[in-house]
Amino acid sequence: MSIFNFDVITLFPKAFELINNLGVLTRALDKNLIDLNLHDLRKYGEGSYRQVDDKPYGGGAGMVLKPGPIFKAHESINKFPKSKTLLMTPQGKVLKQKDLLRWSTLDQIIIICGQYEGFDERVRSLADEEISIGDYVLSGGEIPAITIINGLTRLLPGVLGDPNSLKDESHNSSLLEYPQYTRPKTFRDMQVPDILLSGNHEEIKAWRNQKMRDNTLEKRKDLINDKDKKI
Ligand code: SAH
Repeated sequence: MSIFNFDVITLFPKAFELINNLGVLTRALDKNLIDLNLHDLRKYGEGSYRQVDDKPYGGGAGMVLKPGPIFKAHESINKFPKSKTLLMTPQGKVLKQKDLLRWSTLDQIIIICGQYEGFDERVRSLADEEISIGDYVLSGGEIPAITIINGLTRLLPGVLGDPNSLKDESHNSSLLEYPQYTRPKTFRDMQVPDILLSGNHEEIKAWRNQKMRDNTLEKRKDLINDKDKKI
């Protein structure tokens, strides 16, 4: 049995083919560490046209996803003991690394992807959490869903070759990661800092700690003192 199950309700299951071409994710699927079940919303559409959307009551532009097909699709999913349903919406709480960590101890995440103008308000009652991947509007919830699947999968045991790579990385604490260098020592007149070539592990550690602070102050001052980020 896989350690983690993703179930996605979507009108565009083909969008998730991207996952088969995303390195770490592809390996996690091959090694059966994750299971991805796509539930084609069209299959639950109503009438001979398998209708999933309709005009908004009260008028206005575009089409809204009907509640019936989404409820039916959600009811068809086999629920695991530790399961949460996430609704993709630009009105949701903005996704943070600490959310991915929190969900990584569940057995299952069910993701509902919207399209068009969004979904009937009553769909919200299915959701444990409403999640946005940032303050902008995309045409559908598929890219947000892939974002969550990608970010969560790399946190699962056995997925990354070296689990230590999760320790110091950006957004694991309130500080961003330190600068990284690899060969060559000189590249187009730009040098690798001497300290990294010194072999002095204590000094390297101190330098890296300092750089994490400098880096965060320079690029994301807002993260410092953001208590919400401390995990
Ligand atoms: N009219 C809606 C936006 C619809 S966008 C509104 O103003 O709130 C269509 C669908 O794309 C949404 O239902 C949602 O599932 C997805 N989507 C768009 N932007 C998103 C974001 N930033 N985060 C998560 N999902 C998003």
